Amino acid sequence: MDTHRLRNLDRPDILRAKLEREGVERTTLSFYRYVRLKEVEALRHELYQEWDSLGVLGRIYISQEGINAQVSLPTANLEPFRAALDAREAFAQVPWKIAVEDDGKSFLKLAIKVKKKIVADGLADDAFDVTNVGAHLDAATFNRKMEEGALVVDMRNNYECLIGHFEGAYLPKADTFRGAIEEVKEVMKAKKDAEVLLYCTGGIRCEKASAYLKHEGFTHVNQLHGGIIDYARQIKAQGLASKYKGQNFVFDERLAERITDDVVSTCMQCGSTSDRISNCQEATCNMLLVQCEACAAKYADCCSPSCREIHQLPIDQQRAWRKGRSTRSTKTKAINDPEGLRRRIREEEELLALNGTLHPELTSIIQREQTSA
Ligand SMILES: [Zn+2]
Ligand SMILES: [Zn+2]
Repeated sequence: MDTHRLRNLDRPDILRAKLEREGVERTTLSFYRYVRLKEVEALRHELYQEWDSLGVLGRIYISQEGINAQVSLPTANLEPFRAALDAREAFAQVPWKIAVEDDGKSFLKLAIKVKKKIVADGLADDAFDVTNVGAHLDAATFNRKMEEGALVVDMRNNYECLIGHFEGAYLPKADTFRGAIEEVKEVMKAKKDAEVLLYCTGGIRCEKASAYLKHEGFTHVNQLHGGIIDYARQIKAQGLASKYKGQNFVFDERLAERITDDVVSTCMQCGSTSDRISNCQEATCNMLLVQCEACAAKYADCCSPSCREIHQLPIDQQRAWRKGRSTRSTKTKAINDPEGLRRRIREEEELLALNGTLHPELTSIIQREQTSA
């Protein structure tokens, strides 16, 4: 089998245009299962062919420990897709969660990746019993336990908690799962017999987190079944009050889906109330931002005057500037220190007013570009 063809190598703009032209209604959904899988490479190619023919797009990780999938597909193909999953013993009856707010443009291509683990959690799985998980709670029970005073802990990464979370939840500062779970263990070490409620985006991370906390001696560990995604669905279906406020950060083109109208965050650049999430548009920066409309206009969708100056150059000059520069890992840098970002912006604005540029190296680049043109 020519497995090279079992990949989509088109450029994003071409894929986006293709999706625009398609004109069919799509549904975005996610599912995961910890299950022993054999011959994972071969399975990956089978799934690619099968799902590609059903118009499935999305990001799927498979490994010997299971599957973790976030996909969009033509709504008309939901039933055949369900049947295809159920036909495989490993995936039969796997519960899926349908995204609430969705324009169907959440994924541009189908990417199925073989991984060591379906969630990069950095935990030594053999050090504790990963099947000894906490009690799974539905939305109504989760709400009731919150009212009874249980400790609520957000098991997502720090950037995911930014624009929405459960009322009064502990939000770890760490930016990795491993770091977050160590932090939670430390912060709550005096409360090992308290009622603990864990939650994450789709429930998968809580499987590991709850098993780990139980292993560490916590006695009343509960987790939100199906995560925030399914909580939102249950709240809607049963007419319950949402104790989750704001937006839910998601891992696709949308970046977030709105659960309630509450705005729980502030613009990192000016401090005004905002939960508009974006990435710095300067390609080597890409910093994740909470950025209000006014600041987006002021900084040309960038994190700083420095990135703005590059981003506003003609595309050829941007490319010339980028040459030989690595894409720095600044993605989540401002989250725990928005004040630091604001200080940097003030300093850069002053320098810019003084010198007319923040990138003296541009002079020679621009000259070179103009002579070669
Ligand atoms: Zn702002
Ligand atoms: Zn930037």
